Amino acid sequence: MVEKADEMKAILLKLKEEAFEEIGKAVRSGSEKSNDEPSGDIYDQASNERDRELLLLLGDREREKIRNIDEALARLEEGEYGICEDCEEEIPLGRLKAMPFARLCVKCKADLEKLQAQTKRFEEDRVYREIAAGEEEDA
Ligand SMILES: [Zn+2]
Repeated sequence: MVEKADEMKAILLKLKEEAFEEIGKAVRSGSEKSNDEPSGDIYDQASNERDRELLLLLGDREREKIRNIDEALARLEEGEYGICEDCEEEIPLGRLKAMPFARLCVKCKADLEKLQAQTKRFEEDRVYREIAAGEEEDA
């Protein structure tokens, strides 16, 4: 269990590093257009303030990714990471590696999707019945 947490922490930190590298690249290519001076060194001095500045330059997709990573890391610290939020069973390491932000086990995810499909069908039925009822009232 501890080994699993350590392994996932390493994976999550790597993902975060990669996301920040993407931002760094975007920032560098952006600054090259207006400034020919090499500015690579400043990106080696990580600081929360710079992280925040870089976050502002990120697209929504990258920001969402980093938010998910931070949430997963926070759950890891709390000992809640890798536990299904529904049935509280441990989520297998293989699934976590494939989907590091998974909050549900395969079974609960499938149940949720089934429920969502049913809810959708129910909604469609209800709309249909309302239309049918409306037609009756008009008649
Ligand atoms: Zn579950």
